[in-house]
Amino acid sequence: MPEAIDATDKPTPRRKPKPEKTTIGGRTLKPSTLMMGYGYDPLLSEGSLKPPIFLTSTFAFESAAAGKRHFEGITGKRAGGAEGLVYSRFNGPNQEILEDRLGIWDGAEDALTFSSGMTAICILMLAYVAQGDVIVHSGPLYAASEGFVAKVLSKFGVTYVDFPAGATREEIDTVLERARDHAARQGGKVAMVYLESPANPTNALVDVEAVRDARDAVLDPSCPIAIDNTFLGPLWQHPLKHGADIVVYSLTKYVGGHSDLVAGSIAGARRWMDPVRALRNTMGGIVDPNTAWMLLRSLETVELRMQRAGENAAKVCAFLRDHPKVEGLGYLGFITDPRQQDIYRRHCKGAGSTFSLFIRGGEAEAFRFLDNLTIAKLAVSLGGTETLASLPAAMTHLSVPDERKKALGITDNLVRISIGIEDPDDLIADFEQALAYV
Ligand SMILES: *Cc1c(COP(=O)(O)O)cnc(C)c1O
Repeated sequence: MPEAIDATDKPTPRRKPKPEKTTIGGRTLKPSTLMMGYGYDPLLSEGSLKPPIFLTSTFAFESAAAGKRHFEGITGKRAGGAEGLVYSRFNGPNQEILEDRLGIWDGAEDALTFSSGMTAICILMLAYVAQGDVIVHSGPLYAASEGFVAKVLSKFGVTYVDFPAGATREEIDTVLERARDHAARQGGKVAMVYLESPANPTNALVDVEAVRDARDAVLDPSCPIAIDNTFLGPLWQHPLKHGADIVVYSLTKYVGGHSDLVAGSIAGARRWMDPVRALRNTMGGIVDPNTAWMLLRSLETVELRMQRAGENAAKVCAFLRDHPKVEGLGYLGFITDPRQQDIYRRHCKGAGSTFSLFIRGGEAEAFRFLDNLTIAKLAVSLGGTETLASLPAAMTHLSVPDERKKALGITDNLVRISIGIEDPDDLIADFEQALAYV
């Protein structure tokens, strides 16, 4: 008789030691320290200091029993997902390291990465809605997010109710009550409260704490609050600390930070991530290994880059504030409205580096300003190392009906600027000479 093959259920060798050390003595290590090594053990990859890029579609199981155990995790027979790597539509080493490191910034238990910010947002919403449900969202949202809710989810019997970003607790209560009653009449529920703060391009802030209190008072606790934190995260705003359940990013912006990739993520408690992970396993849409590797490199400098961009923006805005060709600034560092000021004080750690500049005049004057910038590039997007400028009314928001543009304050002279990490005095000199053409 041949010797029986040992099929005992041996533990899978781990890519990383768990739980990993995130403290020294009593001291909790800061994200900027953990970005250099957290979640990766070089000794499991030939000593390679940086993680190799794992270009493989599938992963070999060490035994048949291990394969079964992994699939129990993948299919949800056992909670908490797969313990090991199975197939690259589900996960891979580069993506897992990235997800572990992204979670650190928001103090999240778990994170999921996607091939774009919009893939993250669409799969997140799809995972939570059913026919007859209502999504409540703050307004305005990133145009594609608003479009997905209004034009795509509506095809499947999902409706929405929105409220202006700056709404008070009383106003939010009223909207949630209306949405709850409306959902009940349709045989559904309020499936998600979806926020974006600050709103683009108005920079209006949402009071996340008030939304959390309103949800707790009016809705079922199984309704998650998700928030798109692309404009201030991961450095200047941590919404999970203020009552949000799920934080959403376009990693294309500040996290990627070099205008050379497209990716997205969500983070939160594992129980909020699990339904989304299951749908991502089915649909795909996970970030690819190469982009994940690029993002790991980006995360090592995200704090440095955002700090510098934030300091630059403060200097540029201080110059622009009193310039005779400037009608006004929508910059979080110069909020005048007392309620917005109060939200800023409670929720934000910095004013960011993306703001609105109102040129004195209309579209013609704004075009003259834009066409004469030399350092700043004319492009949409934000959060990169280079300064970008655009005119939302004529570009990103061109298709928004005039009435809605007016309601949102998107005027013909509103120039959107994302400040980069160039020398601040060079930037000021560029803005000064371009304003001379107005
Ligand atoms: C860019 C952006 C998105 C979409 O992200 P992509 O990576 O381009 O898909 C979503 N929300 C906000 C606030 C954004 O700026």
